[in-house]
This record gives sequence, C-alpha cells and structure tokens, in this order.
Amino acid sequence: MRLILLGPPGSGKGTQAQRLVQRYGIVQLSTGEMLRAAVAAETPVGLKAKDLMANGQLVPDDIVVGIISDRIDQPDAVKGFVLDGFPRTVPQAEALDELLKRKHLKLDAVVELRVNESALLQRVETRVAEMRARGEEVRVDDTPEVLTKRLAAYRSQTEPLIHYYSERRKLATVDGMMTIEQVTREVNRILAAVGALEPQAAPARKARGAARKAARPSAKKAAKSAKKAPKAAKQASRGAKGGKTARRKAAAAARGRGTGKAKKTVKRIVRKAAKKVTKKRAKR
Ligand code: AMP
Repeated sequence: MRLILLGPPGSGKGTQAQRLVQRYGIVQLSTGEMLRAAVAAETPVGLKAKDLMANGQLVPDDIVVGIISDRIDQPDAVKGFVLDGFPRTVPQAEALDELLKRKHLKLDAVVELRVNESALLQRVETRVAEMRARGEEVRVDDTPEVLTKRLAAYRSQTEPLIHYYSERRKLATVDGMMTIEQVTREVNRILAAVGALEPQAAPARKARGAARKAARPSAKKAAKSAKKAPKAAKQASRGAKGGKTARRKAAAAARGRGTGKAKKTVKRIVRKAAKKVTKKRAKR
C-alpha cells in the first residue's frame, strides 16, 4: 500500500499516518521528521534546512526528493508507505511520479484532509500544550507567527497538488474536521475502495481454502488437497513476503540505493519536473 496524506499543518496527517502504520505495518515517511532529525544531527542537509524550517519556508525540492528516494529504497518500505508532508510542490509531485515509475511502484491513493483554517491555530496550540505536558521539546516552527507563514506556503505551493492529483484520478477528500476515529474510518474505506487492501488478503484466502479441503473426510479428495496444500502454502508465503512483483520491485529498489548514480538521477528528475512546470506556466 502506498499513499499520500495531503493537508495543511495541523490537519491530522501525522496522527492518521501513525494509525495506518499500526494497522497495516507500512512505514510513515515524514519529510518534516526526517529534516528535523537532520537539523538535530547537524548534517549538511540539516544545516541547509535549519533556517528555512524555522521561518516556515520550504526546503529546496532536490533535497527532499533525494531524501525520499533513498528512504523508499530501504527494506522496511517494501511493504508500503504513507507519505506525510511530501510532496509539497508540483515539481516534487512530478519527481515522485518519475521515481515511482523507475522503481516500478504504483501509488494507490492521495487522501486530502480538508480542514477549516480557523481551527488550525487552535489545533497547533493543543499539540504544543500536549508536547509540553509529555516533557517533549516543542518545535521551533509551532508558533502563531511561523504557522501563518507555513499556511501561506501551503496555500501557494502545496494546494495546487489537489488539482494535480484530481486530474490524475488519484485524489480522495476527507472532512478533516470530523473526530480522529471518523477520519480513520473514512481513510480505511477509501483504501478498500481503491483496492489498496487486497493483495495481501487473496493468497491467504487461497491457503485457507486448500486447508479446509484437505480437512474433508473423502480419501480421494484428501489426497488431492494434500497435493494442492504445499502449492497454496507457497503462494501464501509469497503473498506474505509481497509476491513476485513486490520481490522484483524490492530487488530493483535495492539496486539503486544511495549511489552517486541515484543522486544524479534525482537531480535530473527534479530538473525535468521544474522545466515542465516552467513551460506550463509560460503557456498560461
Ligand atoms: P512538517 O513537519 O511536515 O510540518 O514540516 C516542517 C517543515 O519542514 C516545513 O515547514 C518545511 O520547512 C520543511 N519540509 C517538510 N517537508 C517538506 C517538503 N516536502 N518540501 C519542502 N520542505 C519541507
């Protein structure tokens, strides 16, 4: 399962992503979290991102696309992932399309969490209070002033993605003002509707069917089913590991990981995406 959660700061993307991780065993890929870790570790990426983040501005596309490309290649992402906070610009979305194509991966859905802007400040204030109560360090960009800038960045740079994904028939919108539980239910309903939940269930059903047949009393049938059971079990175990296609994708993903070639590819993809956007703008 591969999906994107789209929504302004404070819309509940992180909370819903965590629920998906727990329920489906996929990984949450939050560029915000990864960048905060880079800032804390004072890596070269962290040093470039630090001031931009503190001011509520976006980090350059090639940096985040590079981070995501490397992260998708990690073994724990083979089963699936939920992108939280990425993509945030049209060139990032185009770069992601290109990356997924190269890695032979399909995006199942983009879920937009739509919320009233007036509620966002209150939500972020609640998040800050909760973090303080847990003794956690509060984010430097969770202040009313920076939040206003982050919202402006969302409106001008990220909101166009709603049109981008709806044109590609990938977008589903959920009312993010509902309770956390209701939003989760709605997200799960969407995932079922787009068929994102099916691949794991099918082989398991097959194996159960073969096992039931094998348990029947007829000697002839039992002998036949016994022959089928190892095949079905093999299929089920293949399903559990992600199937032939997933293994091929995992191998393909592992091949491209962290190399200089991969970095050049990311740069080429971002350049190509940026050119496309410029051309489109020039046409308008
Ligand atoms: P978040 O935790 O998603 O609210 O992100 C916090 C900050 O990290 C943002 O305000 C940006 O400065 C930066 N950031 C996170 N994701 C991206 C992205 N996809 N593109 C550019 N900047 C990002």
